[in-house]
Amino acid sequence: MQSVKIASLGFPRIGRKRELKFAQEKYWRGEISRQALFDVAKSLRIQHWQWQAEAGVELLPVGDFAYYDQVLTLSATIGAIPDRHRGSEQVDLDTLFRVARGRAPTGEEAPAAEMTKYFNTNYHYIVPELSPAQTFSIAYEQLFEEVEEAVALGYKVKPVLLGPVSYLYLAKAQGEEFDCLSLLDNLVAVYQAILARFAAQGVEWVQLDEPILALALEPQWTQAFESAYQTLSHSKPKLLLASYYGSIAHHQPLVSALPVAGLHLDLVAAPEQLPLFAAQLSQDQVLSLGVINGRNVWAAQLDDIADNLSAVVKDFADRIWIAPSCSLLHCPVDLDCEQQLAPSLRDQLAFAKQKLTELAQLKLLLTSPDSESAKQIIGTCIERRNARSQAANKQVQQRVASLCPQDYERQHAFAYRQAAQQQRFKLPLLPTTTIGSFPQTPAIRGLRNRWRLAEITQAQYTAQLKAVTQDTIERQLKLGIDVLVHGEAERNDMVEYFGEQLQGFGFTQFGWVQSYGSRCVKPPLIYGDVSRKGPMTLEWAEYAQSLTDKPVKGMLTGPVTILHWSFAREDISRDTIATQIALAIRDEVVDLQEAGIGIIQIDEPAFREGLPLKRSDWQHYLDWAVAAFKLSAAGVRDDTQIHTHMCYSEFNETIAAIAAMDADVITIETSRSRMELLNAFEDFEYPNEIGPGVYDIHSPNIPSVEQMVSLMEKAASKVPVQQLWVNPDCGLKTRTWEEVEPALKNLVTATKSLRRSL
Ligand code: GLN
Ligand code: ZN
Repeated sequence: MQSVKIASLGFPRIGRKRELKFAQEKYWRGEISRQALFDVAKSLRIQHWQWQAEAGVELLPVGDFAYYDQVLTLSATIGAIPDRHRGSEQVDLDTLFRVARGRAPTGEEAPAAEMTKYFNTNYHYIVPELSPAQTFSIAYEQLFEEVEEAVALGYKVKPVLLGPVSYLYLAKAQGEEFDCLSLLDNLVAVYQAILARFAAQGVEWVQLDEPILALALEPQWTQAFESAYQTLSHSKPKLLLASYYGSIAHHQPLVSALPVAGLHLDLVAAPEQLPLFAAQLSQDQVLSLGVINGRNVWAAQLDDIADNLSAVVKDFADRIWIAPSCSLLHCPVDLDCEQQLAPSLRDQLAFAKQKLTELAQLKLLLTSPDSESAKQIIGTCIERRNARSQAANKQVQQRVASLCPQDYERQHAFAYRQAAQQQRFKLPLLPTTTIGSFPQTPAIRGLRNRWRLAEITQAQYTAQLKAVTQDTIERQLKLGIDVLVHGEAERNDMVEYFGEQLQGFGFTQFGWVQSYGSRCVKPPLIYGDVSRKGPMTLEWAEYAQSLTDKPVKGMLTGPVTILHWSFAREDISRDTIATQIALAIRDEVVDLQEAGIGIIQIDEPAFREGLPLKRSDWQHYLDWAVAAFKLSAAGVRDDTQIHTHMCYSEFNETIAAIAAMDADVITIETSRSRMELLNAFEDFEYPNEIGPGVYDIHSPNIPSVEQMVSLMEKAASKVPVQQLWVNPDCGLKTRTWEEVEPALKNLVTATKSLRRSL
């Protein structure tokens, strides 16, 4: 019998009921001791190791647990702590929290380090700050203590660390410009020291993650791989080089030549890599096959996976590991917690814990395919597929199939529409508007909680929200804003709100995934064909518009954003799902127009986030994402004005696609970059209207009239003033009215003074 091993690249750390989050936050508030936080953390680690061991994972990951972020733990381990967070004492837990959050129960406050998304995931890591004089030495013991802890429980472990080349790639040079790669030799030396410590603890394998291999790399970075791994190969523990999130086939000659004992491939993101790397596997190398999707919640098609792997398992027998595609960090923890899911949906799902069971089942399919249990597993796979195909909504599928090119285009080109819209709305030069949400006050959130708990009736809830909406409209009228919004008081979240009203979406109770630190998100599930049950926003838009003669924007979330911020089904393509959502949004857009709403905004803040890791794959994504947006918007007359909004964006390389979306007005986040982001629009001679944000809503500071005038003057030096709008960077839901009112008052004053001077 062949001996395939089950491997794990990491397990979610938050706990099935977010125990870690609650303990962290209590510790930060000073409500529990450090020891109490350590105790919660330890019991989580023990639980997670136990689940993995029970599933048959032989080498348990250590280093996947973190009190904030695993990249930050590594920075602390190697002593890469910014001076401002260091304090006089040695590196400890509070040092980590000061780096991550700017403050901790002990030590001086100092601005937090930067945080950014980990590759194309929604997980955020703390960006290491490195200076030319950076030295490295082991400065923090957490990793070694956790190895000790697991070993004491009788487990064999495989520590997991971000590899040295990816670490430098993700780091940011501090102060003067310098090449982080100049630190490579020193960094590799501290990795050697770490590996030696692990060896002394009896560790046989260490996993080094090098996710940058999925990117196209400049020659100096590929050389860095050669030199770093040459040196590290002399260390005692065997090295498993792990890649994930994409294909590394473009680096195959480099990777196959690296002196490592094992290689992990993400075969969910890029199954085509397998034959390429298998053919080059050297005699004593292990191949870890990432075949269970670590980034989604759907049960795996184990029968198909087993078929695809049977040849390679035969060829390499005991050198094959089967594993999730990447760390399970991006998955919710335990499906067993879900008590309210429809059984038919639940049967289609696997969270992190269930994915471990899938690995055990896959091993069985590979090693004893003729057993009774194997037949049962295959039977379940077939049942699942049948259930899915029966749940299809033929009408939706037909509507998608019968779309034609005109469905994606407005009736006339922008210049013509612009004239019609000017005629209709008669807006002043530099119209003022906001992005949609107004403060979600504790009163509003309390109201929603009482409604969810059925302590107030639907009618009471609606009546109170209407009062909030009315107040929001009155405040905007008093401020003198030109194009109003209703304020989104009724929305908990810009995706969940729509998901709850669309067919084909499901919601979990505990399907949380860590986003950063103690922050978790609970993405909806898109399990079926998506369609609109009925109007979703119409009542609010109509009510708000009934209160004023000024235009009130209808406010919708776009198809690309709804898709990216959900766990989408895998049996049809993402572009088909986006098209289905686009049709549902399109129907809402048309309903809004028919109800007299003349300006409609379709938000796409996650548009850029969906870009594939490799440039060569961008165009395909941009083509379907732009098409989905256009489809959602194009059902309206020329004199209906379509807005879109994007934040977290950098437009240099995508400006042609942004222009192709053909929104009449786009509002973007620009105040932090002091209008630098407008350069792309200037160079491209972007033809439609633009509202570059002049108010940084992420800061509690109130921007002055002068600051906003100067930003708008800068904008007007790049884009003809007739094309410009004046607005904040993003929605105002996280701010208070005490901040928002004076800020918007200044925004209107700034605009009026500009109108006079131009
Ligand atoms: N309309 C949304 C709001 O104002 C947009 C949010 C976003 O861009 N993330 O809250
Ligand atoms: Zn935004």
